[in-house]
Amino acid sequence: MISADLLRRIRNDLPMPITIANLGREGPPSKIIEGYYRFICPNCGEMRATVNPKNNLAHCFCCQKNLNNIDLLRALDYDFLAAVALLEQWLNRYEAKQPTDRDR
Ligand SMILES: [Zn+2]
Repeated sequence: MISADLLRRIRNDLPMPITIANLGREGPPSKIIEGYYRFICPNCGEMRATVNPKNNLAHCFCCQKNLNNIDLLRALDYDFLAAVALLEQWLNRYEAKQPTDRDR
């Protein structure tokens, strides 16, 4: 059983550029263009999917599709449970590297 809180965390707390970096060669090619992180949209194939750091959603300015971390892995043919399991691992690894209030 996957909790709503876990789903919220893997959508919001794991930055999409980290997800794409973790995917490596499997993930879409990406570039920083004018300060925005862009990647090849899995829906239309254009380098127009742009991550909004405020809500951690990618919006494609070509086909208008919105993608979160789970949608991205689903587009790469992961099934839902495999996508959630992988993103949870990456989120835990990412959060372990972040400074916490206790470290300051
Ligand atoms: Zn697109």
